[in-house]
Amino acid sequence: MINFNVPPFTGKETEYIQEAVRAEKICGDGQFTQRCNRWLEKKTGTSKALLTTSCTHATELAALLMNVQPEDEVIMPSYTFVSTADAFVLRGAVPVFVDIRPDTMNLDETKIEAAITEKTVGIVPVHYAGVSCEMDAIMDIARRHHLWVIEDAAQGIMSTYKGKALGTFGEFGCFSFHETKNYTMGEGGALLIRDESYVEEAEILREKGTNRSKFYRGQIDKYTWVNYGSSYLPSDMNAAYLWAQLEMAEEINEERLAIWKRYAACLAPLKEKGILELPTIPKDCVHNAHMFYIKVRDIEERTQLIAELKEKGIMAVFHYIPLHSAPAGLKYGRFHGEDVYTTRESERLLRLPMYYGLAPDQVDYICKVIKEFFERRS
Ligand SMILES: *Cc1c(COP(=O)(O)O)cnc(C)c1O
Repeated sequence: MINFNVPPFTGKETEYIQEAVRAEKICGDGQFTQRCNRWLEKKTGTSKALLTTSCTHATELAALLMNVQPEDEVIMPSYTFVSTADAFVLRGAVPVFVDIRPDTMNLDETKIEAAITEKTVGIVPVHYAGVSCEMDAIMDIARRHHLWVIEDAAQGIMSTYKGKALGTFGEFGCFSFHETKNYTMGEGGALLIRDESYVEEAEILREKGTNRSKFYRGQIDKYTWVNYGSSYLPSDMNAAYLWAQLEMAEEINEERLAIWKRYAACLAPLKEKGILELPTIPKDCVHNAHMFYIKVRDIEERTQLIAELKEKGIMAVFHYIPLHSAPAGLKYGRFHGEDVYTTRESERLLRLPMYYGLAPDQVDYICKVIKEFFERRS
């Protein structure tokens, strides 16, 4: 059986967790958390990175930092995971969904401006499959309309746009270290902060509204409750797990890219015949092989292919029922403009197994099953 996902594991995780335990500092902001934060800062070139309990929580933190208020409108794609919208709906804001581009499945930057109203406060681009949105265009719209940008870079660690790390363009960037992502700590994430002026407030919100971070750094002699806040810092045991993977980030990334390229090469003949579509990587984007997907003709064909793959021991999945058509999306948000691609493309997309450790002959086998499926149908 070939699973759809296997959480990355390098072998050092348990050793580092034991190290965290021996250090008798297993709560948040211990040595492993600090190492991960520094690593993220160095790797992305951002001023500050803070590990969080999830990407969802990093986005919530960002929404708090931007002081999102009830009835504020936030522009985002509908083709995304629920967390993109949740963080803002929790503050009473209204997600305004805009159509995606069919080539990258990312927010269509040419449709953002028409969706802006007096109530619009920000834009949340989602870098689908670790492939960047058109950040030049999006940042330009944000500047001209005085909007903030919070990047949902849950899938985008190690990816760049014009040489700059995803998550570092907007005011805030949010990474995920969920077990389905390229690097994991079980549940976890990180908030990237572009401007240093937000760091202190972010630390306070993340630490239950206290200035404990300052206390740890020896900048004050006791800590106290200074603002509202919540608890967004992960245990150092989780950070220890992540550290084992960040240490090997390049190797993991290269292996994923090799798998991705193997799929692309194996399936290229089907693409040339017009039988299916493969992912597009725009020239300004370097991606991280977070995902390999194909697009088939329609939902019926996809259902049949999923069944065929399953019969042959291969787990392939689709995702994202467009948020605007989900019960909560209907209740809390609205779609601006026409849904040309969101629903249609989401129904054609199928994700193939992709994980660190997936063997080349497994990729070949998956491609063979797909080829045979289409041969029988022609
Ligand atoms: C995984 C994911 C999230 C949520 O990440 P968590 O760490 O599980 O909260 C949010 N947005 C996108 C696009 C994701 O893929």
